[in-house]
Amino acid sequence: MIKVNDNFLRIPSSYLFSEIARQVSDYCHTHPNAKIIRMGIGDVTRPICPAAISGLHAGADEQAQASTFHGYGPEQGYQWLRNAIATHDYASRGITSVTPDEIFIGDGAKSDLGNIGDILSPDCRVAVTDPVYPVYVDTNAMAGRAGTLSENGLWNRIIYLPCTKENGFVPELPHEVPDVIYLCYPNNPTGTTLNRQQLKVWVDYALANNALILFDSAYEAYITDADVPHSIYEIPGARQCAIEFRSFSKTAGFTGLRLGYTVVPHDLKGFGANGEEVELHRLWLRRQTTKFNGASYVVQRAAAELYTPEGRRQVRQTVDYYMANALMLRNGLTEAGFEVYGGVNAPYIWVKTPDAMSSWDFFRFMLEKCNIVVTPGAGFGPSGEGYVRLTAFSTHEATTRAIERIAALRTR
Ligand SMILES: *Cc1c(COP(=O)(O)O)cnc(C)c1O
Repeated sequence: MIKVNDNFLRIPSSYLFSEIARQVSDYCHTHPNAKIIRMGIGDVTRPICPAAISGLHAGADEQAQASTFHGYGPEQGYQWLRNAIATHDYASRGITSVTPDEIFIGDGAKSDLGNIGDILSPDCRVAVTDPVYPVYVDTNAMAGRAGTLSENGLWNRIIYLPCTKENGFVPELPHEVPDVIYLCYPNNPTGTTLNRQQLKVWVDYALANNALILFDSAYEAYITDADVPHSIYEIPGARQCAIEFRSFSKTAGFTGLRLGYTVVPHDLKGFGANGEEVELHRLWLRRQTTKFNGASYVVQRAAAELYTPEGRRQVRQTVDYYMANALMLRNGLTEAGFEVYGGVNAPYIWVKTPDAMSSWDFFRFMLEKCNIVVTPGAGFGPSGEGYVRLTAFSTHEATTRAIERIAALRTR
């Protein structure tokens, strides 16, 4: 008999983006001349920068010659890329403790965020912010850590940390003590951040309670404020309690190429059922060498070019391009009378719906009145109700047009 993993049967099908697509398609059907601007989905639009493209070409040519051909590489990634990451993403920011050996190259942050649960007990109690990037919740549900889904859409074994304008989008320490805490800063979907002091509260809490922080810093490159940490390892003690996940997707446009990395410090220890202390690094290395055969050579070759002076300048340009959109959206929405959060250290703008409108009603309002597609905040969790998310990943032209339409709302 084919017995399936019943945990999958308890997970509701993710209907957020399919429901958005259905409603947009229905609208286009009845309004064939509508010029829709999509600010809902979190994919990037700028092409990959010339430095990385030259790396891709060079890598492809090397694969064509027996003398330079690369077959299976190290499961943890090539040493030259891990060295470049340790130097440019950590040492250059004053974090000299992260060694290349603690950096694992993978095919994107989503895989690693989903797979990390392999090395954790199914008993672990998990805390997530609400609203949240759905991957954290669904992967724990698949592993059986989430318990059962209640009427209100919450899992009974997951500890939710509401982030709303009332608490300044800063999660409060939970009453029940979790074993694992997911933090994503700068945040998707709210675009808000934690400053050093606010992140230190969580590091101190994790150390005091023997909890693990899974720190998703996919949007690190978008930070502009000096007081916002780029890495959790800027906080003393984080090496004893945190794993950090990064991605080349939103930074360098690698959403289609696929590459990311995960830092597992040697100082980070967990416990077996018999009380035995074990380095999480050892377990993750074992997991990766068993289930993963390494990221593509050609893609790693391209990523290495991002760390050259030219590559870094080009990445900066792309990030600046999106952040100019974020500024346009923030200003335009504020001038039109909306309450706006995020967009300063992140490519996401989190907008309060007017007149206590529900997030789906405001989604339809924006679709019908402005022909702009936004993402209803309720799709990211109950505390996302009353908000919508806009992304800064469009072109300048589309963003400008979107702002003109939003400004026209006032004069209607
Ligand atoms: C886009 C994104 C990622 C990156 O995913 P990849 O698999 O590297 O493309 C990770 N976390 C969050 C919160 C994201 O929005």
